[in-house]
Amino acid sequence: MEIQRKVKYEEELDPNFLAEIKHLSGSENIDGCIQCGTCSSSCPMSIYMDYPPRKIIAMVKNGFRDEALRSFTIWLCPSCYACQVRCPSQIKITDVMYALKRKAIETNVFPSRFAIPVLDREMSRLIAKYGRNSELWLILRLYLKSRHFLTMIKMAPLGLKLMKTGRMSLRRESIKNKKQMKALLNALKEET
Ligand code: SF4
Ligand code: SF4
Repeated sequence: MEIQRKVKYEEELDPNFLAEIKHLSGSENIDGCIQCGTCSSSCPMSIYMDYPPRKIIAMVKNGFRDEALRSFTIWLCPSCYACQVRCPSQIKITDVMYALKRKAIETNVFPSRFAIPVLDREMSRLIAKYGRNSELWLILRLYLKSRHFLTMIKMAPLGLKLMKTGRMSLRRESIKNKKQMKALLNALKEET
């Protein structure tokens, strides 16, 4: 059995990570974290997370890029803002979670068969292309891209029922002025 080293050398850390996440999240005071743990104790999801929010903030602060971006924590955060409103250092923890999700998708480092990031990415792609989300197409993309083929087959009867009752449709939803929306998205990208 190979024993893995868990302690990182300083040269393996990313000195630019903190600045990147500060910029993306709009939370300039991340390094003011006092590690009090209020965020972790306020978080309703922390019992399911691999790292509690306090640790995620410490990772960002100290350049543990891979650990933060590959964590399940960021995808389990449903943005309830409980941590953010209670943080004594007024760190925008929820916005940091959003920034990490965005970075993880951009750099393709999220757990590939984990449904939440795949759903997030595919929904963003649909909206960027058509301006609207189409449930049926989104679900199909989710199952195919996360390679959960068996689940897709199992869910097919429910999908057919929803289609019969008009709750889901094969029609792809789309807005009329896609050019305008693309310009808006490009402007947002340039700003960040
Ligand atoms: S509540 Fe704020 S200061 Fe306390 S550990 Fe969490 S991020 Fe750091
Ligand atoms: S916003 Fe996310 S990290 Fe913060 S308390 Fe809510 S679930 Fe936890």
